[in-house]
Amino acid sequence: MLDYVSLEDDLDEEEQMIRDTARQFVEEQVKPDIADHFEAGTFPTDLIPEMGELGFYAPNLEGYGSPNVSETAYGLLMQELEAGDSGIRSMASVQGALVMYPIHAFGSEEQKERWLPGLGRGELVGCFGLTEPEHGSNPSGMETYAEKDAGEYVLNGSKTWITNSPISDVAVVWARDRSAEDNPVRGFLVEPDRDGVTTNKIDEKLSMRASVTGEIGLNDVYVPEDAVLPGVEGMKGPLSCLTQARYGIAWGAVGAARDAFETAREYATERDQFGGPIARFQIQQQKLAEMATEITTSQLLAHRLAELKERGDLRPQHVSMAKRNNVRMARDQSRVAREMLGGNGITTDYSPMRHMANMETVYTYEGTHDIHTLILGEDLTGIAAYE
Ligand SMILES: Cc1cc2nc3c(=O)[nH]c(=O)nc-3n(C[C@H](O)[C@H](O)[C@H](O)COP(=O)(O)OP(=O)(O)OC[C@H]3O[C@@H](n4cnc5c(N)ncnc54)[C@H](O)[C@@H]3O)c2cc1C
Repeated sequence: MLDYVSLEDDLDEEEQMIRDTARQFVEEQVKPDIADHFEAGTFPTDLIPEMGELGFYAPNLEGYGSPNVSETAYGLLMQELEAGDSGIRSMASVQGALVMYPIHAFGSEEQKERWLPGLGRGELVGCFGLTEPEHGSNPSGMETYAEKDAGEYVLNGSKTWITNSPISDVAVVWARDRSAEDNPVRGFLVEPDRDGVTTNKIDEKLSMRASVTGEIGLNDVYVPEDAVLPGVEGMKGPLSCLTQARYGIAWGAVGAARDAFETAREYATERDQFGGPIARFQIQQQKLAEMATEITTSQLLAHRLAELKERGDLRPQHVSMAKRNNVRMARDQSRVAREMLGGNGITTDYSPMRHMANMETVYTYEGTHDIHTLILGEDLTGIAAYE
């Protein structure tokens, strides 16, 4: 596996073990069937509890069954899972960073005890409902709202593009609380089997096909008052979750690019044209050299992010830079890998075009490439350019 500047020499035993466990899981459990799932537009749901048993959901949290592994170990896990498929890494990212993290950070003791162990073991599935049909890049414009009624909250609104909503046991739904002054955004834990909840599946995706995506419709949905996450109000609730998930994406995208690179390198040494392997042509070598360099510099950025996160110095803008850079890199390099495979490269027999298609989603969700550009622009100039 490409590790050109030997970053993995510095891993401690636990980090090596987590990397190896995830790598083996991907080789044995993901790679054999993932192309079929991608073609069929299905997620291998049988892997959900297995991923829980292996500790893939939020292992960087502490307590309630989570072992508090290092941020490097967590990043390596995301890298290895996305080397299998972005849909597999998305499953772990959503469950861990977007569902378990907010319950862990902002939930009551009862909420933590009720939900975290089952989510961690993969016996329960969670989803994160922020995006709405009319509010994607600007989630603070959200229209979904909650109002108090006889000691309960009533939720109304609709969310869309929600990973795992059709297979979820609990949704973290972000809504404006109209019962409080200034209608602050608050997080609600909603079980989709409540009256008034619909979770229609979104089909027709050409990207992230091995992942379940859906809507969340909320029509006079009553939830108890203790369904609200008590520890946070305002956009910092959902945004802090996104920072956690984007950190994982910055690592994960490197895994997808590395897998595309390794596939192209192997193919180039085995595919003969004009009397020998295509790897002997300078044009193909240039592509591999460029790919290896781009992957290596993205790996360096991911590793540095882990150091900053570990010591509490990671800013959301650092994560924006890494998400923006590493996903663009993976999007570009998976396309180069695809072209090196010629006609075979457009089939599901090889991973690069699947990674390339997935990267269209990864480039768009968790803040589009453009939005991260604006976040960096604001950080560098002090001038916001969103409106
Ligand atoms: C497969 C998939 C899974 C997803 N999973 C989830 C999930 O689990 N939970 C969830 O809440 N959401 C999820 N999303 C939603 C995702 O986060 C949004 O699609 C994303 O935030 C972009 O919103 P939008 O699609 O409404 O695009 P828009 O916001 O309408 O953007 C359209 C285009 O305009 C550009 N643009 C927007 N504003 C500006 C600006 N100010 N300046 C310059 N350009 C701008 C964008 O960059 C983009 O190119 C998922 C999306 C996909 C595709």
